[in-house]
This record gives sequence, structure tokens and C-alpha cells, in this order.
Amino acid sequence: MRVEDLIVYGKSKVHSQHAKMLLAILMGVNPLELLTILNEEVPEEIANQYKEKINELAANRPLQYVVGNVNFYGEEFVVNEATLIPRFETEELVESTMMYLDEFFDTKDLKVIDLGTGTGCIGLTLKHLIPSLDVTLVDISEDALAITTENAHRKNLDVQIKKSDFLDEIEEQYDIIISNPPYLRNGEEVEKVVHDNEPHLALYAGEDGLDCYRKILRTCKKNLKEKFMIAFEIGCDQREAVTNLIKEELDSVAVLAKKDLSGRDRMIFAFSKKKS
Ligand code: GLN
Repeated sequence: MRVEDLIVYGKSKVHSQHAKMLLAILMGVNPLELLTILNEEVPEEIANQYKEKINELAANRPLQYVVGNVNFYGEEFVVNEATLIPRFETEELVESTMMYLDEFFDTKDLKVIDLGTGTGCIGLTLKHLIPSLDVTLVDISEDALAITTENAHRKNLDVQIKKSDFLDEIEEQYDIIISNPPYLRNGEEVEKVVHDNEPHLALYAGEDGLDCYRKILRTCKKNLKEKFMIAFEIGCDQREAVTNLIKEELDSVAVLAKKDLSGRDRMIFAFSKKKS
């Protein structure tokens, strides 16, 4: 079959954007390039793979799981059903964290722990961008950690990977705790494609969606150095609740909320205040 025939086939079953993107990925070309080779014959093996994967997309499986990877902060990450699909908002968490890290600390020799790391996108991106960081990646799910490990190996990044329910099994002290934990309220409505495919363990966090922040904050004192920074992604209606939790659990912190590019509260940063 020719490129054009396959696109027509794909478009009859899924969104045309997805149909083109999938074919481009399988053929190893840029989606725009496809339009310049519409008459080219596609090798049978690729054509068959394409049809199979179009059916997976038509059955409401996310493109990222179908192709097995996702771009995060300009880098490819392996992803599967054991891990949340990294989101654009989380790139903003990484970016803001880099900025505050620079402002708040006088050195980049810092110990960082990424809690609920999933694919490892947060911690591995930080390590990639600032190699002097000593980064630990933690998740409760062994299946997720298999993906974290694969991503660390593929990127050849020297990090520590540990199985733990947030900080339960962690004894060391860190300069930075960072996390995009589950923060949906149990039963909260999300897109069907998310609900039906992504791990609920990575999405839901109790009646009020705050269980994971509560757990991290109640156990983190033992793991924080005297001067520390905490960076959380939050749900857009959780700024006040998470700010209050931080202030209840930690003495002497400055808390700052940051909006994402679409103007919604999506990040909270806490900084230790200097002891006088
Ligand atoms: N840290 C991962 C991410 O941001 C996983 C988050 C999660 O599973 N809640 O994509």
C-alpha cells in the first residue's frame, strides 16, 4: 500500500492527526515529510504494524502507549500502562524548579529526590540538564520502576532508583524534594481515555485528592536538610489546601504558588527560611 492509502485507511478509523502521526513514527519520518511521499509504497511489515496500531488507537488506547514513548522536555521517554503519560504541565514544573534552584541555592551540588517518579521524567530531566545533581527516583510500583530503570539506562544517566511508598523507606536527607504525585479526588471525572488507560494508582489520592501531599509532608522532616526546597505539581484548585498543609507540617517555610502557561495554579514551591 502507498502512504496515501494508509493515511486514508487510518483516517477512516481515528483522528486524521493521529493517523498521520502514527505512520510518520513507524516510517521514521517527520509528519510533514509524509505529505511529500504520498505515492511511495510502504513496506508490508510497516503497513501491517500500522493497521494493527490504528486498531489500538480506535479502541481508545492513547497514542503514547501505542507507540511506547513520549517526548518530555525535548527527550524521548519510554512509557507503558504502568506509568502515567508525562504531561506538558510537568515540563513547566521542571523548568520552574531549575529557575528556583538557581536562585535559592549557591551550589548545584545538590541531592534531589523525585517521589512517584513513574517514567522518571522529572528526575531524569533534572539530572540530564544539571549533571552535578545527585538524583534519587522513587516509586511504589515495581512495574513503573522497570520503566524508570529503562529510561535511566537509555539515557545513560547515573541516578539511584528505589522502591518506596514515597519517603517510607528513605533515610537520607535531601536538598530538594520534587513530586508530581497523584492528586485527583477519588471518583473525580477525567477524560475517558485517561480513566480507561492510565494507572489509577498514579491518578487518585483519596476523598479530597490530597492524601499524597499529606503523606509526603507528614514524613519529610527526617529527609530534609536544614536548607531545603520542595516542589509539587498540584491540581488547579489545590493551591490553598496544599499551602495550608505545608504550613501545618513544616515550621518556618516560605510558600510560593506558580501558574502554568494557561494561567492556572499548577505548582507549589516551599523554601526553608534561613535560621538566624
Ligand atoms: N512523575 C511522573 C510524571 O510526572 C509520574 C507522576 C504520577 O504517576 N502521578 O509524569
